[in-house]
Amino acid sequence: MRIRLSSIFSIIGLSLTLVTQAVPLPRSMESRPAQQQEGGAQEVLPWMKDSIRKMETELATKYGEAERARIKRGLQQVASFWRERDGDAAAFEEFVRASFAGDQASLDTMFNRFERNLEQLDGHMHEINREFNNQSDLDVGEILPFDEKFAGYDPSAHVIDDFFQNKIAFIVLLNFPLTTLDERLTEGDKWSRREWAEVRLAQRFSKRLPADVNLSISQAAAEAGRYISEYNIWMHHVIDNDGKRLFPSGLRLLSHWNLRDEIKADYSDQQTGLAKQRAIQQVMERIVTQTIPAVVVNNPHVDWNPYTNEVRRAAVEDAGGAAGASAAPDTSPANAPEPDTRYGKLLLTFQASRKADPFSPTAPTLIARRFNENREIPEERMKQMLEQVLSSPLVPQVARLIESRTGRPLEPFDIWYNGFRARGAYTEAQLDEAVAKRYPTAEAYKKDIPNLLAKLGFTKERAQYLADNIIVDPARGSGHAMGAAMRAEKAHLRTRVEKGGMNYKGFNIAVHEMGHNVEQTFSLNNIDHTLLQGVPNTAFTEALAFVFQGHDLELLGLSKPDAQSQALKTLNDFWGTYEISGVALVDMAVWHWMYDHPSATPAELKQATIEISKDIWNKYYAPVFKRRDVVLLGIYSHMIDAFLYLPDYPIGHMIAFQIEEQMERAGNVGPEFERMATVGSVTPDLWMKKATGAPVGPEALLAATKKALTEIGGTTKRE
Ligand SMILES: [Zn+2]
Repeated sequence: MRIRLSSIFSIIGLSLTLVTQAVPLPRSMESRPAQQQEGGAQEVLPWMKDSIRKMETELATKYGEAERARIKRGLQQVASFWRERDGDAAAFEEFVRASFAGDQASLDTMFNRFERNLEQLDGHMHEINREFNNQSDLDVGEILPFDEKFAGYDPSAHVIDDFFQNKIAFIVLLNFPLTTLDERLTEGDKWSRREWAEVRLAQRFSKRLPADVNLSISQAAAEAGRYISEYNIWMHHVIDNDGKRLFPSGLRLLSHWNLRDEIKADYSDQQTGLAKQRAIQQVMERIVTQTIPAVVVNNPHVDWNPYTNEVRRAAVEDAGGAAGASAAPDTSPANAPEPDTRYGKLLLTFQASRKADPFSPTAPTLIARRFNENREIPEERMKQMLEQVLSSPLVPQVARLIESRTGRPLEPFDIWYNGFRARGAYTEAQLDEAVAKRYPTAEAYKKDIPNLLAKLGFTKERAQYLADNIIVDPARGSGHAMGAAMRAEKAHLRTRVEKGGMNYKGFNIAVHEMGHNVEQTFSLNNIDHTLLQGVPNTAFTEALAFVFQGHDLELLGLSKPDAQSQALKTLNDFWGTYEISGVALVDMAVWHWMYDHPSATPAELKQATIEISKDIWNKYYAPVFKRRDVVLLGIYSHMIDAFLYLPDYPIGHMIAFQIEEQMERAGNVGPEFERMATVGSVTPDLWMKKATGAPVGPEALLAATKKALTEIGGTTKRE
């Protein structure tokens, strides 16, 4: 199964990163690699230059000329992080003398012990996190207030600080290389696995952000996140020009996720679906342009016509004392617009991010850190890949297909069209029955894991090995996978089983999560270096999990989806990628605008965002939708509180298709899955080349879409 837009949001979301992927803990959002250079923003210590020269000569004399380049590099790396409080010249020199591994044997010993110790650190920190979250994650009784305190505690929060203080970080910087993205991209394919592991080791200590900078960033993130999480629209109070209420009583939708999902759901409402979709589009545009009356945000006590922007005291009561709802106004409410708060919050995240810039000389902007360090895909290449999708000749073809299926010209909200859905061969009730019979309890599912894995093509021995490494827990929510971070630990599969047995939805999720667990097991236990554990980023682990999920019917002994269902799914994914690629371009352009206008006011940022949204719409969507100057691409909440996160989504779709295509080429899942999952945490392009022979790109998605159009083309008229 390919990643659907709706699922990718919940899955690649920031908060789930740790759940689905065992990320080495000290590698926080702001602590990925950057090669520090002389003359960065660090304080320059007056004695440092002389000490470096002195120690270079001393060490080169002691260990030989062949080591000089390595000595030089190490000294520069240490110097760029060394502060006055770390010690004077004598302390610096003594540290270097005692800590440089001058020959291969001592370097090997150092590397091996660091790798082992850091695995222990990551593994146990992760173990504490998992245990402290048990009460909130698992179906094991009431959550008490103190349980939330435990769940919110991060034992690894100060590890980087501690390791600079006790100089473990400096030992790494003295002996192992910091690299730039350019080096990793151009030379990475020539590096040995050990060299890659050394690069990842050094990257852990490539930044030393002052505590107050970290605090500003997390405070801005929290404040913007709060704004987003409380931005609800009470839909029963949205009225049309005839004073009609289109939406049911009590319906409260969070922007933008719930609003968008309501648009998707409304395609199946033949009576009022279209009117509702148009009204939601109007609401979204009012949010982007901040012409929404401030009083209607999260307030069930006023009625609002989003077309005329008229606001009145609510004529009906449907809140039922809902938390967060404001009290009823005494007088007729004014419709004063929201005072650009949306853009004020975005500016907060920008201003906080900028504080880290001086401590990151080779990635001196949040934009550079996101692309060069977190994604390890250069921004320019990312942009090209997005544009390749947006300007594909397949877009107008799929658009025409949508028009023929809806029987009307496209409207802007159709960027969220979700009607490419197959009528499955089995009803939900049939599937529920089949699953409940097989899996009356979580225990029954657990017992069947070796059997399920064997059906996916793993040998009996491999299937048993994997099953032995997966612990099944009762999930409080719908389910998730939590890998281990050291080999002594096991992966956890959290799954939900209702009283009458597992249902189909639960099974489908469990198979997906089991895919994560298998990836997590291979990429930790069967990899050559634990420093390379994992996959390049969350999009990869999701793509691998979707391979499992796509075989769920066969695992139940039913026939797999037919060619037409597969084709519809592909078209759905293609259209979703087309939509989110434009959104990602808006996110990128807005961050550039903020860096170009660092003292902008919220009102100026609003104006810029509106113009950017329109420009990108006019370039890539207007030719297909036949309507110009639409601002919908600016509605995503991630743009406000997620620090340039949106480009991860379209890349996730592309990666999923590449992996799927490779699986089809290989013809079996098991051994191919193991081969891919043990490539480890190298750059995305290098990983993809090893896995499929080609770098990350949209070609597989486009090829599958072309094929799907041919498959569906002949049947369009029957729809
Ligand atoms: Zn997942």
